[in-house]
Amino acid sequence: MFSQKSQKKLKLSYTANHQHWVGSGFYVNGLIRPTEDLNPYISPFILMDYAAPKYFSKTNKRRGVGEHPHRGFETVTLCYKGEIEHRDSAGGGGTISPGDVQWMTAGSGIVHDEFHSKQFAKEGGTFEMVQLWVNLPKAYKLTAPKYQSIQKSDIPVLQLSDRTKLSIIAGEYNKTNGPASTFSPINMFKISGTAPDELTILLKNNTNTILFVLDGSAHIDGKDYPKKSILIFEQDGETIQLKTSNNFNALLLNGAPINEPIFTHGPFVMNTREEILTAIEDYKNGKMGTLPKS
Ligand code: MN
Repeated sequence: MFSQKSQKKLKLSYTANHQHWVGSGFYVNGLIRPTEDLNPYISPFILMDYAAPKYFSKTNKRRGVGEHPHRGFETVTLCYKGEIEHRDSAGGGGTISPGDVQWMTAGSGIVHDEFHSKQFAKEGGTFEMVQLWVNLPKAYKLTAPKYQSIQKSDIPVLQLSDRTKLSIIAGEYNKTNGPASTFSPINMFKISGTAPDELTILLKNNTNTILFVLDGSAHIDGKDYPKKSILIFEQDGETIQLKTSNNFNALLLNGAPINEPIFTHGPFVMNTREEILTAIEDYKNGKMGTLPKS
């Protein structure tokens, strides 16, 4: 008997039109935020900011976000256009160029800064990036800080069809693994195509799935979802099915939900209020480290 894989139904969708500045360098749409209603369907993901393509004129100033802490989760930065420079108190750092991904585990605590690279600022140009916050299971919230610098060339690219490619940043697709190591089961894929296509993406049952459309549009069950759309799918089912437009470009986030309480405060994501108070104290007392003088 042939068994048909069941489709994950679309649960909700929205586009964000409000933009705000993060520091002086990142003009972002806050596309995902942790709320009690949303958490069960976005976990292990907590937050997503999208800096849509924006032109920055040349400058000698440093544009970005100065020294700040994080504890209890990971920040994942995907550069699409422009260049980001980063330094952290655990000794990590470097330049993130188009196609590169920085996967930083804040764990027990890290202090870092994030700026347009000196070279990019000096020349000016179009800047585009995504930053995600990925939650850590309770057992790993105080793990040692870590930094994974993933180059574009480290990311395997599969051909889903003659028109559509799937790049694996984290997780596994069709027996190919992505380079990022994660603390809970996560798939992070880029999907891009030049011509319209019909896609069936294979995922696991009982996982959360978020599709973010960066360019072109996705067509699902008779409706079009233009760029800057966030599509959140039901946990039930093993595939997502969509039609894509010309010049389609999307980010697919999928993972096993972490079914633990979340207590967030600013740059800290813990399980309880007490742990947040401890995080604030520890940061004040320099326990998350300091940056080398620039
Ligand atoms: Mn940060």
